Amino acid sequence: MGGTAPALQVTDLTAGYGPVRALRKVSLTVPAGAVVTVLGGNGAGKSTLLRAVSRTLRFHGGAVVAGTVSRDGRPLDGLPPDRVVAAGVSQVPEGRQVFARMTVEDNLRAGALGRRGGRASKAAALRRVHELFPVLADRARQQAGLLSGGEQQMLAVGRALMAAPGLLLLDEPSLGLAPLMAARIADAIREINSQGTAVLLVEQNAALALRLASRAYVLEVGEVTLSGPADELAASDEVRRRYLGVVDEDAAADAARARATHPVLSRWEETR
Ligand code: ATP
Repeated sequence: MGGTAPALQVTDLTAGYGPVRALRKVSLTVPAGAVVTVLGGNGAGKSTLLRAVSRTLRFHGGAVVAGTVSRDGRPLDGLPPDRVVAAGVSQVPEGRQVFARMTVEDNLRAGALGRRGGRASKAAALRRVHELFPVLADRARQQAGLLSGGEQQMLAVGRALMAAPGLLLLDEPSLGLAPLMAARIADAIREINSQGTAVLLVEQNAALALRLASRAYVLEVGEVTLSGPADELAASDEVRRRYLGVVDEDAAADAARARATHPVLSRWEETR
């Protein structure tokens, strides 16, 4: 064999909700220490993928039908969610889910529940979270529900980090955030990764995700349709057009030429 086992290996994963097949034979790899992103539109199956990895699908009425998931070469299949956390995998679900009526510090404490290690390692995890997100130290005694949306997202990420995961699963961390706040979250993800945590990042914000990741997968209606190094995908016409909102330059130039030479179209343009 040789080399390090991947932080996460998903092989031929098929999952769904009753009769709904949300994932079909999905395979992906998060190499040790890497940031990998999964892009896809609404309903592509991104959240289902993370739930299947964290073994929380059944809380949503779903189930894995076939395939395997392993972490550091060890299978996670069939484990209860707390054992997945103990195996070093923490998930930040979509929608900044914090305990709104609990204080910021109690939210963070909740993230450390069930983790191995004594007081000293919990204190070290808390220091790390406070260094990453100083606002969580400043607001320690405040109710989490009173934080801004961006701060709640920081708290959701901070809570997951309290378990000192080797692999962090992030479900659309930039969703609904202003660009500046999304950029701060992106900086934090970069920092978390540089400290040795591998990241599987699910995003609709392809521009942000492709800047952070070394490798990317495109999921469409439950299937992987494209994958490769993030910079190659960022440069591909398909991804630029569909996920980065870049218009096909040749097609745009053709259309401009057609308008210029077409008498009706060009007159219509002049009167706009
Ligand atoms: P979004 O970006 O909108 O969150 P997604 O890529 O995360 O989308 P999923 O939420 O994984 O997509 O949904 C994949 C498919 O599974 C969709 O067809 C969706 O309607 C269906 N689905 C998701 N959650 C459930 C559920 N709890 N019960 C039934 N079907 C569900």
